[in-house]
Amino acid sequence: MSGKKKIGFIGLGVMGKPMAMNLLKAGYPMVVWNRTRSKMNDLLAAGAEGAESPKEVAEKSDVVITMVTDSPDVEEVVLGPQGVIHGAHPGLILIDMSTISPTVARKVAEKLAEKGVKMLDAPVSGGEIGAIKGTLSIMVGGPKETFEECLPILEVLGKRITYMGPNGMGQTTKLCNQVICALNIQAVCEGLMLGAKAGLDLKKLLNVVTAGAAGSWMLSNLGPKMVERDFKPGFKIRHQQKDLRLVLSFAAELGLPLPGTALVQQMLRAVEAEGLGEKGTQAAIVAMEKLAGRKLTEKE
Ligand code: NAP
Repeated sequence: MSGKKKIGFIGLGVMGKPMAMNLLKAGYPMVVWNRTRSKMNDLLAAGAEGAESPKEVAEKSDVVITMVTDSPDVEEVVLGPQGVIHGAHPGLILIDMSTISPTVARKVAEKLAEKGVKMLDAPVSGGEIGAIKGTLSIMVGGPKETFEECLPILEVLGKRITYMGPNGMGQTTKLCNQVICALNIQAVCEGLMLGAKAGLDLKKLLNVVTAGAAGSWMLSNLGPKMVERDFKPGFKIRHQQKDLRLVLSFAAELGLPLPGTALVQQMLRAVEAEGLGEKGTQAAIVAMEKLAGRKLTEKE
């Protein structure tokens, strides 16, 4: 016996698979389930046990982690007919690390509480690379003592792990993160297009402004890709649009206008209309090019 909690992992996609692998490598016994069963193979080969349903995962685990796509998907794997809740035992903990609606996170936590199950909403930032390296930023909502109990598990997955308050506050933090990211991408698009239209050398422009007050992760990482027209996805436009939909509907619940975010959502919709929804968010430059009537790097 390792003495470590047994972890159930549900959702072995781009993010979930490397996260589960890191926990397995850290010595946590594990049971896994993925809707598309073939995605379980690498984990099974590495020593994880397979389950037939989220319900069975819950029956066999101390802590269940979910890393699926959107709010309805979390509801399905947790509350659906074969969901975690039906295999739950008092004392079980669910950590949902997907990016979903804070309102749905609270609803799921309330349903689980009726069965004696504690929940943390613990979405992440840092992308696939952060998931692989175990360097994610993790923003956590839920009961403080449950957070403290689960901290050793979260520390395998991330570097900066912050307790934000009761259930829903982790997801709320993630939505704030997405607003800042989205508007930052739009700022990079507009700054670069102004430089291009005025005849600046864009590589020199990026080099000098990156080191000053305009410097940001988006500028350093996505600016050069826009200039090089490398639209290979890190974070897909389609996923960004899911997150902006969550942001705008949550802001509507709060009666809060977010005009900049709404604008970026429409700009990205124009990129999707070009068939580029599966490209990385740096493809946002394509909408700017449509407005400008020129490609970023073309000579006038
Ligand atoms: P992904 O590669 O598309 O994986 C999604 C996973 O969820 C797959 O295992 C999928 O199963 C499963 N799933 C979706 N709907 C389901 C349902 N109704 N029932 C059962 N399983 C379901 O996505 P990802 O990039 O790993 O993202 C996962 C979450 O992390 C999302 O909320 C995303 O916004 C967030 N996130 C992603 C990034 C990033 O850079 N990718 C960064 C931060 C946060 P199948 O294999 O059967 O499709």
